Amino acid sequence: MKSGFVNIFGKPNAGKSTLLNALMGEKLAIVSPKVQTTRHRIKAILTEPGYQIIFSDTPGIIEPKYRLHEKMMQAVKACLEDADLAILLVDIHDDWETVDTMFQQLRLKVPAFVVLNKVDGIRTKDTDRIVAAEAFFKKAPYCKEVFSISALQKKGTDALLERVIECLPEGPAFFEGDAVSDLPMKFFVSEIIREKIFELFQEELPYQTTVLIREYKEKTTLIKIHADIIVHRESQKAIIIGEKGHMIKKIGTLARQDIEAFVGSKVFLELFVKVREKWRENEVFLREYGY
Ligand code: GDP
Ligand code: MG
Repeated sequence: MKSGFVNIFGKPNAGKSTLLNALMGEKLAIVSPKVQTTRHRIKAILTEPGYQIIFSDTPGIIEPKYRLHEKMMQAVKACLEDADLAILLVDIHDDWETVDTMFQQLRLKVPAFVVLNKVDGIRTKDTDRIVAAEAFFKKAPYCKEVFSISALQKKGTDALLERVIECLPEGPAFFEGDAVSDLPMKFFVSEIIREKIFELFQEELPYQTTVLIREYKEKTTLIKIHADIIVHRESQKAIIIGEKGHMIKKIGTLARQDIEAFVGSKVFLELFVKVREKWRENEVFLREYGY
């Protein structure tokens, strides 16, 4: 039996959540074309005959501009400390030098695979770029092996998974049963609602919004969920609610459909919008909201 912890790192938008989903074969992490939608550490557990892998999808690595961002960096660092293997994910279209500097700054103590993602976006006549990127990262001190994949098209992900398993220590499974995650369902529900806010609203608003699940009750025929959408200002509250409540209704409908698919049950979803001035700067609020 092989078992161990694998943490996925990379810049926002590198494709960490997409890779995690591809490796898990099930939608777990929230994938969004916009940056910084994954604020928490998501643990996903892949249990198969012969091995168990516990994955973490970290928040994107960024400069701590706000207090919230500092917390995100702390989460990134915390991930570094308890892994058997790190996957350093690189968008092949990004500037490798910048990414390399960032990886060096992490001062990794664990072995790392550098995984070049989104190679599906490289045209056949430009495949030299992939070869050059592989050569560049092979020389990096933190790099154990280099892989080229398309997380989106699940190309090269099986080969990556195979090598990950080979590199894990021998040992019994850490988690029993076939649970895919140790995070409460509430977390996924709040992520789904946040994902809808990212889909429906532009610019700063989604980043200044958080979602708090007040109630999650499994009844005989359905699951009752009460969630608060937290914003900074009254004006943002008005935008989220929309004229005659049409925007909040839209969020609710879209989120409910996804939550129902995720939990496999009928869902009654109640949404409320609340104003908490500068919640991102406030330690008490951050703790209450689970950062
Ligand atoms: P994260 O911020 O690192 O978690 O990145 P996401 O997994 O949320 O992905 C960011 C964006 O890149 C999304 O629009 C994904 O669909 C896209 N993406 C991820 N992997 C691939 C890939 O292999 N190929 C292409 N073309 N797009 C990808
Ligand atoms: Mg993500």
